[in-house]
Amino acid sequence: MLNSAPDEHDLVLVGGGHSHLAVLRRFMMRPLPGVRLTLVARELHTPYSGMLPGLVAGHYDFDAVHVDLGPLAAAAGARLIHAELAGLDTSERLLRFEDRPALRYDTLSINSGATPSLAGLTGRIDRLRRVKPIALFLPALDAVLARLGQVSAPLDVVVVGGGPGGVELALALAHRLRRDGVRGQARLRLVTAGERLLAEQGGGVARLLSAELMRAGVEVTLDARIVAVGDDQLQVADGSMLAADEVIWATGAVPPPWLAPSGLELADDGFLAVGPTLQSLSHPDVFAAGDVAALTHAPRPKSGVYAVRAGRILAQNLDAWVRGRRLRRFRPQQRALYLISTGDKRAVVARPGLPALRGGAVWRWKDWIDRRFMARFSELPPMRSTTPASAVAAARGGQRLAAGMRCRGCGGKIAAEPLGRALSGLRHGADEDGPAGRPHIEDAAALPIAGVLLEQTIDGFTLPVSDPYLGGRLAALHALGDLHAMGADPVAALALAGVPYAGRAQMEQDLAQMMAGAKRELEAAGAPLLGGHSCENESLSLGLALTGRIPSDRDEDVLGKDRMRPGQCLILTKPLGTGALLAGAAAGRVASRDLEAALACMLLSNAAAVARLREHGATACTDVTGFGLLGHALEMAQASACGVEIHPDRVVPLPAALAAMDAGIVSSLQAANEDVMAMVELGKGLRPGEAMVRLLCDPQTCGGLLAAVPESQASACVAALRSAGFVHADIVGSVIEAADPGTVMRLTRFSPVGAWGG
Ligand SMILES: Cc1cc2nc3c(=O)[nH]c(=O)nc-3n(C[C@H](O)[C@H](O)[C@H](O)COP(=O)(O)OP(=O)(O)OC[C@H]3O[C@@H](n4cnc5c(N)ncnc54)[C@H](O)[C@@H]3O)c2cc1C
Repeated sequence: MLNSAPDEHDLVLVGGGHSHLAVLRRFMMRPLPGVRLTLVARELHTPYSGMLPGLVAGHYDFDAVHVDLGPLAAAAGARLIHAELAGLDTSERLLRFEDRPALRYDTLSINSGATPSLAGLTGRIDRLRRVKPIALFLPALDAVLARLGQVSAPLDVVVVGGGPGGVELALALAHRLRRDGVRGQARLRLVTAGERLLAEQGGGVARLLSAELMRAGVEVTLDARIVAVGDDQLQVADGSMLAADEVIWATGAVPPPWLAPSGLELADDGFLAVGPTLQSLSHPDVFAAGDVAALTHAPRPKSGVYAVRAGRILAQNLDAWVRGRRLRRFRPQQRALYLISTGDKRAVVARPGLPALRGGAVWRWKDWIDRRFMARFSELPPMRSTTPASAVAAARGGQRLAAGMRCRGCGGKIAAEPLGRALSGLRHGADEDGPAGRPHIEDAAALPIAGVLLEQTIDGFTLPVSDPYLGGRLAALHALGDLHAMGADPVAALALAGVPYAGRAQMEQDLAQMMAGAKRELEAAGAPLLGGHSCENESLSLGLALTGRIPSDRDEDVLGKDRMRPGQCLILTKPLGTGALLAGAAAGRVASRDLEAALACMLLSNAAAVARLREHGATACTDVTGFGLLGHALEMAQASACGVEIHPDRVVPLPAALAAMDAGIVSSLQAANEDVMAMVELGKGLRPGEAMVRLLCDPQTCGGLLAAVPESQASACVAALRSAGFVHADIVGSVIEAADPGTVMRLTRFSPVGAWGG
């Protein structure tokens, strides 16, 4: 029995900005029973604005200045939806997206920042390197640096924007170019429409920083409003032209485009008008903080300082609002302390009304403050299964995996050995084979009816991710893998959906989102969802019974597991490691970008792969799922009465999968899967405990196909797979004779000499 209240209130956070970090942290420490927390985020790594100039200057690496929202959301028991909000319907309380169904909320909190203004600008806007979103700016900056490294004559690099962001960026860039040895390749210029730099700071600060810009060789152009962008120039409002080979755009902010049509009351500048409690003036169930909000009671400049400060009050007020308690007022400080870095590990400290100071000690102080801030969101307490947040999150499909908790996805499968024993009594006898006469267990069962060769299969799992729509897509792709592995075209599907007990609206949303995800993949595969059944379950889960058809209706065209022949090459279409990475993500120990890389592979349908395999003469195939590569290869070897030789060094690991295994992060099915090693002969230089070998037993969710292809066609098949998007497809081994049928599996290092053309 669940000892937590059912979720009956949807609190949705849009944007993982500075203020929402504090909200997530509060939920981590003090979960709110009965409230389902969801974070919708366009980027999963949130940059901390205070350290951005240090990143540009080269003092910090990416991870030092970004909070990874994945582990933080997991620790807070929040569902994480990696998506960009496209529209907000406040009358229906719905969030709309371009490529997924709408999401409802009871209470909404918005901390989605702002983007640089392009108002009144014409021409080659595509040339601008905009500083926001940072996720796009960082690769753009790399492109500028690379270009400077290649040119023979200096380029004109212009930073547009005379606020703290633009000034810090210009100084940081000057330092970075010096450090990278390309300072001589750039004429740096800072341009502002204002009559002086840093209009919102005191004159003393502006003077100090102007001197710093001069020292760094950055020319400053004041009173120059840019109105048009040319191929290598910028046009100023007075008609003059500025040379500009590269333009970094760091001007004042504009609100997101979905805000105006939302029906929310807006301030004169178009930002969301909030009162002292950070609630919308028109919709008290909508809160906002940071750059997207206009503080009507105490207008302040757009700055990360205020976004951070608002976070604590926002967290408290969301909690109080949901509980029906009294809200607090946000009183932003009148005179914020600004620590502005000068690029070279020095900084200026400024507070209106006080004399400005600068130096290395100021930078070290700023560095200490910034690192301490980051540590609050990246050094998370270890998860304990007894904490309320973990119990609540586990029940709602959130991603907290404490000691003793079991994996989801295909890592939640029954291990091969007990499964085999339990099902042995159900197998067809030798004289009563399945309809197509296949005594071994296949990915799908053949059903020849009046000359039509149908294949039927069923598969399902507890969703391995907290986003029900994404989970539905994964469940469908995973189940479809069984049909694709047989070479069957999917024709129809039935679903069995399990939804955790919650409020009516929450259960309806869970089911609708999950089924919409499944439907998307089923329809893309040509298998309409004909019906199904639903029930309450501890976690969100989806099983699918699928019917497919062998296009030729001939049994010899089925890609059975029993159809391998010695001498064939074994091709694997996807990398391995989803089991370890999903387990690590559930425990908050895998970076979101690594999980994203795994999800991108998981979302690749095997349909295109099986077509290429068939074109190149594949005779046998299986999808690599819960038992791992070795478990499924063994099934094929036993069914075909052959042996297999696999080269672990030809198998591509997903990013960070080997590191996860080395750190002891493995799926809860891993140990049982490794029982297969008793049947494996290990070649020279390979050890059973090394990550590269253990990876072969990692249970896969939405894994790739393992197929036997004639040696003469194997290289061409790999090339065709790679051009179809399976960029990691490769020959990973071969089918060999087995003296003792079915027990031979050899692992050897790959020797390029004389094998498969290198
Ligand atoms: C180069 C530079 C240096 C700066 N230096 C400083 C500084 O030193 N100190 C300072 O106080 N300020 C600084 N600023 C300003 C500061 O970056 C912003 O004021 C601050 O980031 C605003 O914080 P926020 O929490 O409102 O939004 P953000 O930090 O912008 O976060 C918003 C988040 O919402 C997400 N999001 C956006 N749109 C959507 C959507 N439609 N759907 C889902 N998610 C969405 C984004 O992924 C983003 O992570 C600097 C700015 C720049 C450009």
